[in-house]
Amino acid sequence: MEIYSDSAATTAIDPEVIETMLPFLTTNFGNPSSSHWAGRKVREAIDQSRKKIAKLLNVTPEEIFFVSGATEGNNLALSESIREYGLNHAITSKIEHKAVLEPLLRHEREGDIEISYVKLDKKGNVDLEHLERLLDANPQSLISLMHGNNEIGNLTDIQVISRLAKKYNAVFHTDTTQTIGKVQLNLSEFPVDFLVGSAHKFHGPKGVGFIFINMRHKLKPRILGGGQENGQRGGTENVIGIVGLAKALEIAYRDFDLIKEKTSALKRRFISEIENSGIENVGYNGESRSETKSLGSIVNVSFPCLQSGSLVSKLDQFGIAVSGGSACSNLGNGGSHVIRAINNEADKENVRFSFSKFNTAEEVEHIVQTIVNIYNADSIPIEPNVLHQSFTWIH
Ligand code: PMP
Repeated sequence: MEIYSDSAATTAIDPEVIETMLPFLTTNFGNPSSSHWAGRKVREAIDQSRKKIAKLLNVTPEEIFFVSGATEGNNLALSESIREYGLNHAITSKIEHKAVLEPLLRHEREGDIEISYVKLDKKGNVDLEHLERLLDANPQSLISLMHGNNEIGNLTDIQVISRLAKKYNAVFHTDTTQTIGKVQLNLSEFPVDFLVGSAHKFHGPKGVGFIFINMRHKLKPRILGGGQENGQRGGTENVIGIVGLAKALEIAYRDFDLIKEKTSALKRRFISEIENSGIENVGYNGESRSETKSLGSIVNVSFPCLQSGSLVSKLDQFGIAVSGGSACSNLGNGGSHVIRAINNEADKENVRFSFSKFNTAEEVEHIVQTIVNIYNADSIPIEPNVLHQSFTWIH
């Protein structure tokens, strides 16, 4: 039996999305920049996709640019705004995704910016008073704070941060990769300068996403060539991906309440099964036990170390796909930068379970029963190569 419980890493493509993409793999093959009928058909599909996404987010189509995913979107927003506006100070947090931290660190190494890290509490919540003090001391900063954390699910109040950004004349970028399609955002209600989405996180295809660039910004073109994406990003568009992205987002909004209800119920069920499982010394990282302060689809559990190896690897051996990191001394891979930043509990294995609309309650029960079986069998010696099988945190 194979169970996929790693929807924060990626999701299965929805069959409706595949159906929408298929004509663009077959009959609708024209180059969208061609002026003839074959090109026009495809251009029209890209335009409609952009409009659809803009409407769902309540922004204008001119503010949506298609890219290869959230990594590119984050890099573009951060690097181009630093370059364009000569920003020399960035405020971020230690629990951002590497697609934010790495480009910021490179700018710091190259002497473009200094970075301040906003304080977090033990559960990974941003200290908003500290953020305001940092902004007060460093006007015209670049703020990059994520909306939903990919490891612990924490939700950040980006509406409040957006108001602070406005008050202190800062540029506000937020990594919304985990929340697009899962939290409804009405961007007309609060200003954000840049945010990103990646289709494969909400049952769309991989390798395609978008960046929202608030119309007050006019960035220099980043990839020069054919002038596509309003001159911002040259190169023939990923048409199949773009139509799939728009359809996936449309479905996420259409079925919003149903999906939210289902994934939240799975998370509740999982937590209650774990708590009745008899496994001792189990904890929850960040706010991931909460239904309101954390995404309904993610729960991050700290388990006591197994003598016999990694729980994530063992679950994989039983066909269960989850992600994790470990501070257990017998595994020694150092664990995740997110968990390290908020919680110094040594000798715990942190496992992220993330659910999608395709998971079932039976799967949740089976996962917990498998964990119980693994703990019960932990005294039984296993193969040495299994013992040190490593795994990497976390996408
Ligand atoms: N930011 C966050 C919060 C993510 O979860 C991910 C996906 N792991 C990314 C950025 C990067 O997304 P992609 O790999 O689709 O570019």
